Amino acid sequence: MASVEAYIRNLPKAELHLHIEGTLEPELAFRLARKNGVALPYASVAELRAAYDFRDLHGEEGPPAYVRAALDQLAVRRIDHGVRCEEDPELVRRLVREQTALTVCPLSNVRLRVFDRIEDHNLKRLLEAGLRVTVNSDDPAYFGGYLLENYLTVERALGLTRAQLATLARNSIEASFLDAAAKHRWIAAIDLRARHAERHGD
Ligand SMILES: [Zn+2]
Repeated sequence: MASVEAYIRNLPKAELHLHIEGTLEPELAFRLARKNGVALPYASVAELRAAYDFRDLHGEEGPPAYVRAALDQLAVRRIDHGVRCEEDPELVRRLVREQTALTVCPLSNVRLRVFDRIEDHNLKRLLEAGLRVTVNSDDPAYFGGYLLENYLTVERALGLTRAQLATLARNSIEASFLDAAAKHRWIAAIDLRARHAERHGD
């Protein structure tokens, strides 16, 4: 029987919240520095990697009032992070009603101390409240993993069902800026994968 890891791996999913500079792996930084004749203030890849390990930072996660202002004044279609919306039940109802996507970044949230431990993350609760939650990686080179690792980590820590994993993947396609035909194709592929898992338990 295929593992949940294989299931997650094979689900089509979109990355919606990634900072390009946050993908600068230490090896690549050294390669670029060499190519451009730039001296880095680190002796080795390992030293630079160690410098990436900032665990004492605190998150930039905004309070509900910021989210409200963005919805009202900017008519945004997605909210980056958005995990603190839970503090405001009225805002949660609105986000559910309008199906505004939240680009949640689980590994980043833990590194930036929005949640102390991944087990404390509210992603599953937000999902069960009917919010259009998506999983993303933010700054994968710094925060311990790309999109797949973020999915695997929340599945393990929060015990998401295969149906919930498919919902996360579907949400990411719905919230992307793909055209309608492309969205339709990817969502059909996710539905197929989810139905197969339901019938065969894998
Ligand atoms: Zn970010």
